[in-house]
Amino acid sequence: MLSFKSVLATIIAGALTCHASAQAQVFSLKPKTLDEVEAAQQAAKDSAEFEFLGTLSRLCLLPPSRSEDLSDKTPAYVEVPSSAPARSTWYGDPAKVFDQFYFVGGKVHSSWALKTSEGIILFDTIYPYNSEELIIGGLQKLGLDPKDIKYVIISHAHQDHIGGAEMIQKRYGARVVMSEPDWSLVERLPNRFKTMAPKRDIVAVDGMKITLGESTVTLWFTPGHTDGTQSFTFQVTDRGRPVNVVYSGGTALVYEWTLPEWSIKNLETYIASQRHLAEKAKETGASVLISNHSEFDSAYNKTRMLAGRGEGAHPFENGADWVQRYFKVTENCARATQLKVQQSFTPMR
Ligand SMILES: [Zn+2]
Repeated sequence: MLSFKSVLATIIAGALTCHASAQAQVFSLKPKTLDEVEAAQQAAKDSAEFEFLGTLSRLCLLPPSRSEDLSDKTPAYVEVPSSAPARSTWYGDPAKVFDQFYFVGGKVHSSWALKTSEGIILFDTIYPYNSEELIIGGLQKLGLDPKDIKYVIISHAHQDHIGGAEMIQKRYGARVVMSEPDWSLVERLPNRFKTMAPKRDIVAVDGMKITLGESTVTLWFTPGHTDGTQSFTFQVTDRGRPVNVVYSGGTALVYEWTLPEWSIKNLETYIASQRHLAEKAKETGASVLISNHSEFDSAYNKTRMLAGRGEGAHPFENGADWVQRYFKVTENCARATQLKVQQSFTPMR
């Protein structure tokens, strides 16, 4: 006996066959492309589980920020400091995260300090309007002296990470480390980086090591978010036990529907960078993934979880397998987006 479902399927199949003869190319191309997009998104979701939901939703689901605004315009919060976002939207307490690694960021953006016997290596510097309170004030609250900052390593030249670099270079004489494409970006846009632009100093290249005291940070060239984004691997200790860290320097996808060929290439660069950093994380046995946005590593929440840790596991220590999964999320979301861009300009017939 024929069920209702099978009768319905027969009717639909018949209708599709008739239609397909007229528009064969439409039917052969579009569903296949959609399948590939969904497969990449599903792979990202499977990798993220509940651990990297912020990364998954920003890269795979939410309307992304897309392309970069490269106009040389002074930001409103520099022109009119009172127009900066309210403190309540960004303030977060500083925290000691590992024996020598400190969170001096806020709710949204992060800055990190690695303390050594010879001084401090600072990673990223948030905005000009909150670097004073979060970084300088945060270090002091934690019993550290900002005068000890010897290196400022900037992951990439966007205002939410380079904002305090000029101030720290001028005030404390710290060396600033950034890659060539991002030094050039800052120099090309003097108004855009007004009050934020450090003088050109150390030019980072892939595999370069910055050593201070007993700590060494290895820099990895991971372009795609900006042309010069860099990421890092280094070691910290947790109650004396060595723990390897990978710091991902740039995460959001950068592309533009109106520039499909450039976008596809840039996303390819991004994917290659995710693979490169995943490889270095694997080689170093990284079991902790650190970001400069709480959205991607839950730093703001996890620093508060530390207070109730007791003898339990370290909230930042995901384990090496989870660190690898993070890079599968970023890679697959970038791939899904790349396919969508491709689909947007592929002729349908
Ligand atoms: Zn950025």
